[in-house]
Amino acid sequence: MNWTSEVNDLWEQTDNNCLGTVVAVQANFYQVKIDEYHNSVKNARENIPKFLLCTRRSRLKKIGQKVMVGDRVIIEDPDWEGGRGAVAEVLPRETELDRPPIANANQVMLVFALAEPNLDPVALTRFLVKAELTGLEICLCLSKWDLVSEAKTEEWCSQISEWGYEPFLISVKTEAGLRAVKDSSHSLWEKLRNKITVISGPSGVGKSSLINYLIPNVNLRVSAVSGKLSRGRHTTRHVELFELPNGGLLADTPGFNQPQLDCEPIELAYLFPEARKYLAEGSCQFSDCLHRDEPNCVVRGDWERYEYYLTFLEEAIARQEVLQQQPDSESNLKAKTSSGGKRKLEPKLASKKYRRSSRKVEHQQLQDLCQELDEF
Ligand code: GDP
Ligand code: ZN
Repeated sequence: MNWTSEVNDLWEQTDNNCLGTVVAVQANFYQVKIDEYHNSVKNARENIPKFLLCTRRSRLKKIGQKVMVGDRVIIEDPDWEGGRGAVAEVLPRETELDRPPIANANQVMLVFALAEPNLDPVALTRFLVKAELTGLEICLCLSKWDLVSEAKTEEWCSQISEWGYEPFLISVKTEAGLRAVKDSSHSLWEKLRNKITVISGPSGVGKSSLINYLIPNVNLRVSAVSGKLSRGRHTTRHVELFELPNGGLLADTPGFNQPQLDCEPIELAYLFPEARKYLAEGSCQFSDCLHRDEPNCVVRGDWERYEYYLTFLEEAIARQEVLQQQPDSESNLKAKTSSGGKRKLEPKLASKKYRRSSRKVEHQQLQDLCQELDEF
């Protein structure tokens, strides 16, 4: 083999593989959005699709590699004309959520209405704590801005900033807080740019309205997907990532809208930015301090949400007691407590229960896939 053919081989290899992000999974099919780089290179030569409908290589089946929405994948030998490909490799995940099942999500966009329904600080805190539990960044949006006075809005904002959050004020109705697409660095668009975002919040706060506003072509994309993928969309509960006009991906399925605080008592304080601040500045006398009435506690104090902390702590303790009474139970948390009781927040990984059921599902999918590959 001479030098030229070796170079040609290398070129062939890189040319025949491409990188992309899985934006939808349906049975054994993976809708993969091809990276811009490949698009520009290929586009210069031929008109290639932005998405490929892929199956999964049998090698992945052998190693038990699951493919999730949000996964970064290598597609081997794409059939550009046919818009088909096969996932050959899944790159290591940075994060993994189980509800909704999404890999590599960067942030949770928590939506709460300023009115209709009225903003309830305890409910908001519950969602915030739940969002903190994912270990992902939090982007808080206060919606229906059009329904409340300027004074009331300011009151809420200063209160919430005491908690450690800087909310975005938005109104889908008047487009306030949403219009500045490019010119403001503190615009929601900027916050969503080039990230994978999952929306969460109680019902009725305007999540669907917001998704439709942010991705006006959301339905276009859906109807453009042909075959099995689109048929399954309305029959099966599944999640799909949609491209934002400015870059970035948004999950169309709101996550955890019935938040159960499934955290361990010891880690609860780390889910409150105010308490995190105290714990970063000093240490409690006891490494297993629950910050109630222990001596020399640095967390206990007159911060506004301390009361909520105590209420949630009781819940977490009660939940732990119930779990301990069940022989086969196991907390579905990945609590990392280092020596000294300092907890490093980590994205929560799929629970054991979830892994179990998904293995069953996966087995089914793999069987189908084998057939699929035969046909492919
Ligand atoms: P979801 O349950 O969180 O998905 O909420 P929806 O998007 O279905 O919205 C619930 C209701 O709030 C609907 O009647 C919307 O028209 C209304 N809504 C959504 N956004 C706004 C807004 O910015 N201002 C006002 N006044 N109403 C809104
Ligand atoms: Zn303490």
